[in-house]
Amino acid sequence: MKSTIMDYNLSIHNVFWRAEKLYPDSQIVSRVHEGKVRYTYSKFSERVRRLSEYLREQGVDSSSVVGTIAWNTHRHLELYFSVPLLGGVLHTINVRFHPSEMEYVINFAGDKLVFYDVDVEEVKKVRAEKSKFVRLDDEFDREVNSHPPLDYFPEVDEREGAVMCFTSGTTGHPKGVVYSHRSIFIHSLSLLAKEIVGISSQDIVMPVVPMFHISAWDVPFASLMTGAKLVLPGPRPGPDHLASLIREEGVTVAIGAPTVWINLLDYLRREKIDLPSLKVVVTGGAEPPKGLIKGLRELGIRTYHAWGMTETEAITTVNQSENIEELSRQGKVMPGIEVKIVDPSGNEIPWDGKSWGELVIRGAWVTGEYFNSPEKTRDSFLTLEGKRWFRTGDVVVLDPKGSIKVVDRAKDLIKSGGEWISSVDLENAIMTYEPVLEAAVVGVPDLKWGERPVALVVLRQEYRGKVGKEDVLKYLESMNRFPKWWLPDEVIFVDSIPKTSTGKLDKKVLRTTIKGRMRA
Ligand code: ADP
Repeated sequence: MKSTIMDYNLSIHNVFWRAEKLYPDSQIVSRVHEGKVRYTYSKFSERVRRLSEYLREQGVDSSSVVGTIAWNTHRHLELYFSVPLLGGVLHTINVRFHPSEMEYVINFAGDKLVFYDVDVEEVKKVRAEKSKFVRLDDEFDREVNSHPPLDYFPEVDEREGAVMCFTSGTTGHPKGVVYSHRSIFIHSLSLLAKEIVGISSQDIVMPVVPMFHISAWDVPFASLMTGAKLVLPGPRPGPDHLASLIREEGVTVAIGAPTVWINLLDYLRREKIDLPSLKVVVTGGAEPPKGLIKGLRELGIRTYHAWGMTETEAITTVNQSENIEELSRQGKVMPGIEVKIVDPSGNEIPWDGKSWGELVIRGAWVTGEYFNSPEKTRDSFLTLEGKRWFRTGDVVVLDPKGSIKVVDRAKDLIKSGGEWISSVDLENAIMTYEPVLEAAVVGVPDLKWGERPVALVVLRQEYRGKVGKEDVLKYLESMNRFPKWWLPDEVIFVDSIPKTSTGKLDKKVLRTTIKGRMRA
């Protein structure tokens, strides 16, 4: 029997309509180059309408792709709404991309306009003849404000694209994924559930996850669904900026990669600052070290651990466990998502808490293909039981109740003497050693064993020059967790560890650095 329920579009239009009508007095605060901007949802909505009229005049319609190379600011947020409200696709571009990568994605996506922040110097080197570049500054504000508010937005089917994002292209060209109105709506709504992130109207929410990558986990949309105060940390936010914003604005929930919180915690300790308003930190993109979770807990802050990737739009698992050991797991998938683990031939691997395999995933916000890339799509999907599954490239273990533990990315596992070593396990163990601020482990080629693990370690300032390789190895041995052949052959001390444009340990660069250092 066909349902009698209306075929109502789950679109960004509904998020906007509610934000404008139901929460006119709620606030948005944005750090910008010039200082801080503070305005209400009502003023925000007016700006979105004026910007939409400006975009319409520039020829933006339902066939347009509009690029942004921008930090988490109110101007970026306005574009997050105006472009999809007109039926176009907002293409967020990573500000840390090399100019050649920016050029590639802008041309490949066919951006009609590209809005960029004033400090993104790389834009000057980008050649994209078909795109018009617009600087997000005071002049842009005046231009927008000179336009009348658009009073009508076209109806957009929920399956149409709204936001487009490219992977960071660690191998080959970045690959594009287009999120739909529907996927954004459903995922954003999920973020409001207590079991997931539990964003509510009582919260003051600060997404540190960049709006230029995986739509800041849809946190901006979710916040505006509830009328929560939204705090946007602006250009290149450092730990000092974050600490001030959290204290001044009373942030209750903040979202970002573990490195953000490692650096913030280190800063808070050095400066002897606490953050009384902050209740929850949601972290993902990499496994949060136990020392980080403990350190945050000592300040009265809970950690929620989430997993996701560009291809899954935002987060697909969450773990809110109070138990620190348990919290290193990525957790169970959210409603609307399904997972399996498979061996290289695509045979299912049991959920026994021991067997490793590649995580494959399908669901309401998992991409079904790559944008205009049939070959890349062919390599990344498989069919099981007549259904399509996306191959994540993550090697995981599932316990019998389906809680996921990421062992490593397949390409980062270290194969030594025919046996596997998890670089992630070693990194996290090293990071529990008090003198260590950050650690990374990669496999280097070895004539006898194939590959051997080597660790790069950043010591806390007060331990520099006082802790050596033997201390780190002794500490690892004393944990009684690893067989002897797991222990790194070398421990190299460095001032910082190279990160990818999305803040992850850049293992490709690390392998080259290590080869250079070991030869020297
Ligand atoms: P990239 O564009 O560099 O691929 P993504 O943001 O798409 O960046 O990264 C996704 C990858 O990050 C996942 O495949 C996984 O390996 C890693 N990742 C994400 N969240 C977690 C987590 N909570 N724990 C461990 N690894 C994670």
